[in-house]
Amino acid sequence: MSNREHRAPGQVKEVTSLSNPIVKEIKALALKKFRDQQNAFMAEGLKLVIDALDMGWTIRTLVFAKAGRGNPAVEKAAARTVAAGGLVLEVSEKVLTAITRRDNPQMVVGVFQQRWLPLKEIRPAGRDVWVALDRVRDPGNLGTIIRTVDAVGAKGVILVGEATDPFSLETVRATMGSVFSVPVARANLEAFLAWRRDTPAQFVGTHLKGSVDYRTVDYARRPVVLVMGNEQQGLPDALAEACDDVIRIPQAGRADSLNLAVATGVALYEIRRNALPTIGKDGN
Ligand code: SAM
Repeated sequence: MSNREHRAPGQVKEVTSLSNPIVKEIKALALKKFRDQQNAFMAEGLKLVIDALDMGWTIRTLVFAKAGRGNPAVEKAAARTVAAGGLVLEVSEKVLTAITRRDNPQMVVGVFQQRWLPLKEIRPAGRDVWVALDRVRDPGNLGTIIRTVDAVGAKGVILVGEATDPFSLETVRATMGSVFSVPVARANLEAFLAWRRDTPAQFVGTHLKGSVDYRTVDYARRPVVLVMGNEQQGLPDALAEACDDVIRIPQAGRADSLNLAVATGVALYEIRRNALPTIGKDGN
């Protein structure tokens, strides 16, 4: 029996044409307008897709290259997609390259439903740490921050103001899969400031003119919301004034500032210093 015969007929569509309407719809996900319209986004890689399914994300379409035919993990992911009511496409390399806009694409691409966490559902408690990003512009920065938030065991990200899209292909790539495990909320400045007034957490801003060394603050008293400024303009006064502490990471040398994602990482590791396991102890 061929691999094809293992599948129920009609469940896998073979597509080789770039003008196929489903392919066109997936290709359109490269644009925010269509991601918003379809409330969907694309993630590349078999492991990522399996992890997302395991975490309960809703898959709309699974696309795989002909080379994936007969691969048990791909077949299983395809079966799970069908069981979830999704569509499975087996496509040519040309189609996969067009969908992902890259040469040598991954063998599997998943189209998932977007998920946004409503800001009002965020109630920081205990040692929770959240990161609020003011008007973050760069998809690489946002993806790297989502990945770092995941790595340090922080709770999630709040996008304040007009921000780059966490569900763009570039951002999703930079998250290396963490887009599926880190909740993201969004709010305009006013809504964020209103939420801040109702939220009994320690709001810690970061600023190049901050007068407090980031290593001297006690982050263990309350949950922490770390507030990071925009790449070009830094933290605006309205946000800095809403913070309990405004910290600075000292610098030597001639660089004006740290990259946003690097500064976020440095601050997060300090904030989470005692919450992270110690390497070498307890078999870690
Ligand atoms: N031209 C901007 C300015 O004047 O603030 C530079 C912004 S910097 C590239 C982006 C963000 O990273 C800052 O708003 C701040 O949140 C954080 N950041 C970068 N370097 C920092 C430092 N040394 N101390 C504290 N925060 C820093």
